[in-house]
Amino acid sequence: MQKIKVGDLVQVISGNEKGARGEVKEVIRGWRVGRFKAGRTRNPNADRVVITGVNIRKKHQRPVSQTRTQTGIIEMEAPIHISNVMLVCPTCKEAVRVGFGFEGDKKVRVCKRCGANID
Ligand SMILES: [Zn+2]
Repeated sequence: MQKIKVGDLVQVISGNEKGARGEVKEVIRGWRVGRFKAGRTRNPNADRVVITGVNIRKKHQRPVSQTRTQTGIIEMEAPIHISNVMLVCPTCKEAVRVGFGFEGDKKVRVCKRCGANID
């Protein structure tokens, strides 16, 4: 079970954008097809998240056919590593560590600071 999901409010805890908050737009999991082994191997270095309004890069988008609507210099969010962000607890409004607990027989995420159910 993952600690950070699409739609969560997160805070950046290191790097240029330290302190910035935003909603998670996309979670990129570090799974890739293994080169030597059959099946998939894990690359933790590629566990990244895209956060709305954080880590904006200018991209020079060349027009390719009519399907690309945005061309020229466009601004888009670049993914940042998942270890550089912390979840913001909806109850105590702080960047917190995430634990897991059970509500009935359903596994849920809980705030390690105030103990509130996050899901
Ligand atoms: Zn909390």
